[in-house]
Amino acid sequence: MPDAHPINSFVGLQKHIVVRWKRHHKSWIELWLEPREQAFICYRCRAVFTGYHDRTLVRLRDLDIASHRVYLWMPRHRVDCPRDGVCREATHLARRGARCTKRFEKLLFTLTKDMTVKAVATLQGVDWEMVKNAEVRYIAGLLRKRDLDKITDLGIDEVSEKKGHRYLTLVTDIRRRRVIWVGRRNDRAVIRAFFRWFGKKRSRRIRRVVIDMHDPYELELRVRCPRASLIYDHFHVIKPMGVAIDNIRRRIQGQLPPEGRRYLKGSRYLLLRPSETLTSKQCISLKELLDLPGNVELTTAYLLKEDLRAVFRELDPKVARTELRDWKRRAMESGIPEIIDYVKMLNRRRFGIQNFFRHRQTNGLSEGFNNVVKTLKKDAYGFHDWRYFRLKILRKCGKLESGD
Ligand SMILES: [Zn+2]
Repeated sequence: MPDAHPINSFVGLQKHIVVRWKRHHKSWIELWLEPREQAFICYRCRAVFTGYHDRTLVRLRDLDIASHRVYLWMPRHRVDCPRDGVCREATHLARRGARCTKRFEKLLFTLTKDMTVKAVATLQGVDWEMVKNAEVRYIAGLLRKRDLDKITDLGIDEVSEKKGHRYLTLVTDIRRRRVIWVGRRNDRAVIRAFFRWFGKKRSRRIRRVVIDMHDPYELELRVRCPRASLIYDHFHVIKPMGVAIDNIRRRIQGQLPPEGRRYLKGSRYLLLRPSETLTSKQCISLKELLDLPGNVELTTAYLLKEDLRAVFRELDPKVARTELRDWKRRAMESGIPEIIDYVKMLNRRRFGIQNFFRHRQTNGLSEGFNNVVKTLKKDAYGFHDWRYFRLKILRKCGKLESGD
């Protein structure tokens, strides 16, 4: 078959020509390829040879031609290199060991952005492992190209796979709003592993780290970037106050006679939601609940919580600090044990809170992460295939592809 044959322009290969082809059942085509030039390159030293040692034919899936599935029969040569011995030749059409061409892999990768692995496999008539391998390889390539040298602000977040157990640690580049690293579990060793990967040189550039109030993270961070300001995300500072209110509610509920308990049943939502997000009907229910004679402590705690939220909304660091001091005094005066414990906790962690007032840096990405992880778990087989799951998270939240 001459080079000018139209099939060659359809297939569009640079270094090979089609020498024979066969169409099967109107649905798939087989093409036999030969190299255009008798030049074989040693994959190790890149030396070029005019002859080869031996050759085998491999069958590769390629891009479709007019709804025909295309399979290429490509010769793979081995050269007799004086330096490296008998060596395989360098090819650009397909990776070693792959059962499809690189351009077909790229198609699979593109499709997996919005489709599940299974759906892509069905659409293209290949097995899911080929799809998954294509995706893994491409993501790994994109990860190597990332620029991580200018990062100054890090966010560290824990995300639970299920409620309360099996945690992930996500490290984010706050300025560029992307996840740069994913670790299993949420202990001190994870942070150590992160910094080992991140490197000393880059760690020295870190100026601010936003964390939740999780001690293992903090302890390791003090060792790894001693010069960085540790900032508590206000969301995580206020959250334990909600837990305190819930504990008060439960304590009061336990002391009430059975007929009184029903008033508090289902009130958790009303008490913990930010007041401005309640509907007018919910506001009335909340007022009724707080007006009940036995609920003085609950009312005090609720008002304190709403005040605390206002303190964290204050933009002037100096005013915010004064207001927080004032708030703590009132909270201590309430005499409610749960609240007193909370204030003690705030005192222990005052530096991270003051840093928040100063920088007002938050890790605004964390809200979405939980949902992303949940969605991905189904397609990436969650923790059963950890490596793949990790890469999927980085693809989804790492801004690896242009247009993300
Ligand atoms: Zn060689």
